[in-house]
Amino acid sequence: MSKKPKKPSSKELRWAKHVASKQHDPNHLPPGAVRADHEKLSHINTYGELPNYYIDRPFVCRDCGIEQIWTAKQQQWWYEEAKGHIDSFAVRCRECRQKRKENNKK
Ligand SMILES: [Zn+2]
Repeated sequence: MSKKPKKPSSKELRWAKHVASKQHDPNHLPPGAVRADHEKLSHINTYGELPNYYIDRPFVCRDCGIEQIWTAKQQQWWYEEAKGHIDSFAVRCRECRQKRKENNKK
């Protein structure tokens, strides 16, 4: 059984957008940010700088058009545990990703 993902409330979305739109002092973590572990990001070779931390990122799902938040925790997992590429970015919500996975299996 998979848990139904919680849809972000408009308040959460507003807040995430507010945080995401600000320029941050890299030495001062914004509220809700998760610090990045550069040792775990060694698979990433980028000409840019590695992130010092992750913040919740609001995005609109490409398939269903619902606004979602890619949380700092999920980004940490994606980049540091799943070894995701730094340029890859959430474009679909969890439900739509699962639907696509199932369709690909067929
Ligand atoms: Zn979706």
